[in-house]
Amino acid sequence: MPIGTVLIVDDSKTSRRLLRNILEKHNFEVLGEAENGEEGWLQFRKLNPDIITMDITMPKMDGIEALSLIHRDDAHAKVIMITAAGQKEKMVEAIRRGAYDFITKPLDEEKVIKVMIDAIEDGK
Ligand SMILES: [Mg+2]
Repeated sequence: MPIGTVLIVDDSKTSRRLLRNILEKHNFEVLGEAENGEEGWLQFRKLNPDIITMDITMPKMDGIEALSLIHRDDAHAKVIMITAAGQKEKMVEAIRRGAYDFITKPLDEEKVIKVMIDAIEDGK
């Protein structure tokens, strides 16, 4: 049994692969990936993952807008924002709009797993 299921939303293929590798190594199951906010929202509706990891800057629809759409469907969905340096304002905006937590790039394996496990254990 996996610890939890995850949907990865990020426009960077390298970031998606890195995150997937970390998560799978620690027994999370990655149900799917999406490369923009709109696709992420549609995948969320289809896959119903325990956690969504959401990049902020993406083409077509950014992570903040996707977060809002996801929460419109499910106010309790756990969306963890993936933020890069210099995105403090966007990060504050995401938290204000109900993001569950955030992970900063470059990804640190231990920190990623700590945030993910905290999110899974909350509400169990
Ligand atoms: Mg991006």
